Amino acid sequence: MAIRRSTFKCEGLPSVVQLRLAPTPSQTEALTAAMRLCHQAATFVSRLAWHGHTFTMLDLHRLACHPVRAPFAGLGAQAAVRAVARAAGAHANRRATKKRAHIFRPHGAVPNDARMMSWSRNARTVSLCTPAGRMIVPYTGRPEDLKAIGTLPMGEADLIRRRGVWLLQVAVTLPEPLVCEPINGFLGVDQGVANLAVMSDGAVLPGPALTGPIAGNGHVRTLRERRHRQRRRLQRKGTSVARRVLRRLAGREHRMTADLDHRLSTHVVREAERTGRGIALEALQGIRGRVRAHRFQRRTPHGWAFAQMIAFTRYKAARAGTAFLLVNPAYTSQACPECGCVAKANRPARGRFVCTGCALAGHADHIAARNIAARGAAGWAVVNQPHATGLPSARRDRESKPPVSASGS
Ligand SMILES: [Zn+2]
Repeated sequence: MAIRRSTFKCEGLPSVVQLRLAPTPSQTEALTAAMRLCHQAATFVSRLAWHGHTFTMLDLHRLACHPVRAPFAGLGAQAAVRAVARAAGAHANRRATKKRAHIFRPHGAVPNDARMMSWSRNARTVSLCTPAGRMIVPYTGRPEDLKAIGTLPMGEADLIRRRGVWLLQVAVTLPEPLVCEPINGFLGVDQGVANLAVMSDGAVLPGPALTGPIAGNGHVRTLRERRHRQRRRLQRKGTSVARRVLRRLAGREHRMTADLDHRLSTHVVREAERTGRGIALEALQGIRGRVRAHRFQRRTPHGWAFAQMIAFTRYKAARAGTAFLLVNPAYTSQACPECGCVAKANRPARGRFVCTGCALAGHADHIAARNIAARGAAGWAVVNQPHATGLPSARRDRESKPPVSASGS
């Protein structure tokens, strides 16, 4: 089972640190053998599971834990347990669709749990189990990663061989930093259809501020349109090859979306951190409700992973100690941030905002972002009223939900 990089729920923040191993030639041989053995053992267990129709971890453990150790001498007891766990994991979500036992790739990552490794932090070595016995392998890494390894609690690690280089990706638990009081108000972010994200200081994302392959919102739309057409064509075809291609395309679109959401959220959190502000986003249900798209445009809004962007921003803000709030999305696009007047007539056209009260005019998404920022600041003030509970403000943030938040952190 590989390290899960997307679960950010327990106390403290899990993170992954990558170390580079420097094995001697004989150690390389032993590590290669260990890797092969682990994959073969996991495949063997997977076959047992398949033939015995036994897939749950506990039953599979009873069935396979001893049999697997006979043909794979040199596999330690703990490694056998890991092999069983991997086989169970491989079948866990795919039992209905799998047509045969799972075959583990001979060069894939090998998970090592904490009991299989022992660290010597001062000497910068790690001891790993191999069929030829324990190997004490020196490691190097970036200074910040070495510091993390030296100080933080460590969990599972994946042993990886990438283009001849041996890597160890270690899960560590970061202490959750206290949330800093936002000193310059809030940064509001409007998430939308035409523009994925517009910040209250006017930046439109994705745009020139973001690095990466996506040039702008028009580019995102073009890519999504193309995928949609491909999907329609393949769905109409309906052959098994078409279905396979569809699955591959889904994976590709998924990764593109996640990558872009990571870039967006990183940029937003960095910007807030740099300027000493908190971050305010709309609580999710606003997005579907507010969109008034033409029928042929409708697939675009509902397809985008807004929830993912919110989740990424939330955990990155927590990691940076930046205040984060979800605010009520009602009328953020029709209210005037200057005079407070709320009217449908404030939006003469889709992208335009002109206040009927005070004639404030501007880009509609930008005005919405300003409203979101103002609601963030107001919501924060309500939660963090001085002497309300006698706890320091950061502590209180976690223990009470702001009234404006639809799903508080
Ligand atoms: Zn106004």
